[in-house]
Amino acid sequence: MEKLKYEKPYIKKLHAGVMNKFGTRTGIQPVKSIEGVAVKSLVEQYGSPVFVLSEKQIRKNYRSAYRAFSTRYPKVQFAWSYKTNYLNAVCQVFHQEGSWAEVVSGFEYQKALGNGVPGSKIIFNGPGKSNDELQLAIENDSLIHIDHFEELNQLLALSNNLPNKPRVAIRVNMDTGVYPLWDRFGFNYENGEAWTALSKIIDSGKLQLAGLHCHIGTYMLTTAAYGIAATKLCDLAMRCQTQLGHKIAYIDMGGGFPSTNTLKGAYLPGNDTVPSVDDFAEAITSVMLNFGFANDDLPLLILESGRLLIDDAGYLLGTVIANKRLSNSKRAAIVNFGVNILFTSFWYEHQISPAQDFAPHTENMVVYGPLCMNIDVIRESINLPLLNPGDNVVVHKVGAYNMTQWMQFITLRPAVVLVDEQQRTHLIRSNETLEYTEGPELMPEHLKASK
Ligand SMILES: *Cc1c(COP(=O)(O)O)cnc(C)c1O
Repeated sequence: MEKLKYEKPYIKKLHAGVMNKFGTRTGIQPVKSIEGVAVKSLVEQYGSPVFVLSEKQIRKNYRSAYRAFSTRYPKVQFAWSYKTNYLNAVCQVFHQEGSWAEVVSGFEYQKALGNGVPGSKIIFNGPGKSNDELQLAIENDSLIHIDHFEELNQLLALSNNLPNKPRVAIRVNMDTGVYPLWDRFGFNYENGEAWTALSKIIDSGKLQLAGLHCHIGTYMLTTAAYGIAATKLCDLAMRCQTQLGHKIAYIDMGGGFPSTNTLKGAYLPGNDTVPSVDDFAEAITSVMLNFGFANDDLPLLILESGRLLIDDAGYLLGTVIANKRLSNSKRAAIVNFGVNILFTSFWYEHQISPAQDFAPHTENMVVYGPLCMNIDVIRESINLPLLNPGDNVVVHKVGAYNMTQWMQFITLRPAVVLVDEQQRTHLIRSNETLEYTEGPELMPEHLKASK
């Protein structure tokens, strides 16, 4: 090996960051405002904890996802995944942008109707639809996505002598190279169930097979899986056309595109690791464009993206209650919001930022919620400056699933505020009250408190 050349030592100035009155030490930045609205004023006006959603960010996410697909493929339609966040104001932002509704229960179906979505623009997914719900969806000309043979038989029984054939699709599951397989929903591709189901639908003469659907997973980190899924759905569509003489009007590729949240235990932050929506769009549309459909027969491409479109538009503002040292001398902070309203803290390492200036010293700590339960851990390990009781914190990228999966457990669920594009704030869900939670309760006569 060649001997390394001698180099004279020299003194170099270190740039550790911009100096401020608190020094240069930490990479942590306070988050004092959201879309130009001060965190302090949000908390003062709406209480703490409080969820805050940015309308601007939702629209921006939607438009860039729509652009990624529509610049590559001529016929694209998004359908908002209600279960991701079905606060009506949120749904209306998506509907204003042109999104249809994608629902997975009768309850969500009713919400979509209530939001004024025409029945024909509601996609009805899910494995548990009642006869009444299916009947309503038929009457409204909705797109019914069939999950299993029992549902197909249910639909056939409801579809005798109708003037117009109900429009249906089958949900298809398949091996996309991502394990464990999501094979509990829909009909399997590899074992032939999907083909059997669609042949049965076409043979029945009672239903119109309008589409093919898949939703291959959630927070998917590989674009290749979508290429495989698109290939398999296109193969079914093409065989339908050539062998059964039936053209498929749409292919629905579901959702599952990741937000930029960081998964627990991930080596690198989500910002650096997740593929972009353009990458997913490329994987899907290149398959569909090159599969061999005649130009006029290209199926409409439907997307049901959820978390990608709203996660980073959501913030949870809260307040520090106390600090303590654990037996292993690790620092712990207790905040006033628990995992009952921040379900996604089981999967994500959410970013937590102080909402005010802080001293330069930081320390690794655990952040606990206020629930009287051992599992109430918001972050197991996070480097933060010393937080004082009364300080505010901002948890970021919490727009997806938290406001639908939240539980009312020993506390009342907090208010949700929307900051619009003019930086005006709107209360879109009030904080719950004791009367609200006790409303449906009934007291047997003999147990009534004696006055
Ligand atoms: C939940 C769900 C979606 C949205 O999933 P994301 O991973 O949030 O994009 C789309 N389609 C169906 C059928 C779903 O169940």
